[in-house]
Amino acid sequence: MSSKNIRFKEDDAGYSMKEAINEAKRCLNCKKPSCIKGCPIANDIPDFIYQLSMGNMGAAMKIINEKSNLPAICGRVCPHEKQCEGHCILQKKGESIHIGKLERFIADFDADMDLIRDRLPQKTRGKVAVIGSGPAGLTVAGDLARSGFN
Ligand code: SF4
Repeated sequence: MSSKNIRFKEDDAGYSMKEAINEAKRCLNCKKPSCIKGCPIANDIPDFIYQLSMGNMGAAMKIINEKSNLPAICGRVCPHEKQCEGHCILQKKGESIHIGKLERFIADFDADMDLIRDRLPQKTRGKVAVIGSGPAGLTVAGDLARSGFN
């Protein structure tokens, strides 16, 4: 089989819109959110979940993008059970919010709908070459593009 015929199918189909919003509505929007303490990049988890619970996908994505350029990946591969979800206050009851799945849902919705983003600044600050296309390289490239570099 040639490589172009290989297709990967995810075992977990992810949330439907209704499931994602219902899951988001379970979040207690804690005043001192322990989930953020468990996140290596201190993503504003309660805020993006709150926006999702109101159906504001663009606003939810904007909050995520303040800290992360790769939510579709992080939502799938981060060890959430040790990080954000492991620190969620509801974990004590074994009912922590499925934060990774919500992050993935928002990122996939954004990509599927090709949502309009904030206007980027003109690229007037010159060109930068980023060596490497792993998570660090992609993050740097995204941040530089947002800051007006080509
Ligand atoms: S700790 Fe859990 S319930 Fe509290 S804000 Fe974070 S995700 Fe929501």
